[in-house]
Amino acid sequence: MSNPVENVVIVGTGCAGLTAAIYAARANLNPLVIEGTLPGGQLTTTSEVENFPGFPAGVDGYQLMDNLRQQATKFGTRFEQAVVEAVNFETMPRRIVCGDRTILAKAVIIATGASPRMTGIPGEKELYGGKGVTTCATCDGAFYRKMEVAVIGGGDSAAEEALFLTRFASKVYLVHRRDELRASKIMADRATSHEKIEMVWDSVPVEVQGVAEGAVSGLKVKNVKSGEERMLPVKGIFVAIGHVPNTGPFAPPLEVDEGGYFKPAAGSQVKTNFPGIYVAGDCADHVYRQAITAAGMGCQAAIEAERWLAEHGG
Ligand code: NAP
Repeated sequence: MSNPVENVVIVGTGCAGLTAAIYAARANLNPLVIEGTLPGGQLTTTSEVENFPGFPAGVDGYQLMDNLRQQATKFGTRFEQAVVEAVNFETMPRRIVCGDRTILAKAVIIATGASPRMTGIPGEKELYGGKGVTTCATCDGAFYRKMEVAVIGGGDSAAEEALFLTRFASKVYLVHRRDELRASKIMADRATSHEKIEMVWDSVPVEVQGVAEGAVSGLKVKNVKSGEERMLPVKGIFVAIGHVPNTGPFAPPLEVDEGGYFKPAAGSQVKTNFPGIYVAGDCADHVYRQAITAAGMGCQAAIEAERWLAEHGG
């Protein structure tokens, strides 16, 4: 039996991918979603999401993703668990290789997300996600009212996270491995002059304390110049040392920027230089990186795909 040609294949099951699936399915495109190793994406590792519009009481991250999945399924989305290993976007239909299977598609939406870069220190993995180690102040900052927290990193993200956290935390330690922030001057000035932020210069994180209790009770840091170790008495640790966009087998052929994020075609957030191939969500956005903005990009990509298919025989 010859391989069927799919109208639209969506790669990724985070907010961007599932929103694209809802829109594509409601447009009768019968989309196929390829889900990789972390179905539901980054939100499934967060506890409560308080800033997704429409949920005044907040919503569990896993529940939100399950809701999106049910909504996509209701309109006819099909799901297949597979890992994309290679693509050929020069051919028509496009070819997506997953192990022994090659999927053929007229249009493709890539919504593979980004993974936060982690420090790899002991205790970090064990206490990640709801136990005190997190990568998103916007998502989790409000849980640390009147508590001391630490932010690790020295870029714009770390400065931004530290400043955001001053709204809730009693004190924010900003732990950076050098004696100068990488962040833009304005952000660096704001962070270093804030009364609630203590700069912990020339220091690297060594260990997250609290594994036995199941919740963060401190962060051990080491001064790289003096060799001295110090325990920060924090309940929350925000790792902000950059993200690694999941562009894997798609780049090349797709273009990426200097940070490794997909670079959309000029004048669009989601179109690429290949007709019928779209990108959406955190794999193509290093600025906002929010569930709602990813969902918005997924919606845009599906509408673009629908229009393109209507013109090119969908
Ligand atoms: P980034 O600029 O790459 O900064 C990463 C920071 O983490 C650097 O200070 C780096 O230290 C540190 N770091 C990296 N690996 C580390 C490790 N293993 N242990 C300890 N520290 C480590 O990443 P980002 O802050 O996420 O920003 C990414 C991009 O988004 C940037 O272009 C940024 O300007 C932009 N952004 C802009 C805004 C804004 O304008 N409001 C907000 C957020 C992000 P070194 O400095 O020593 O290398």
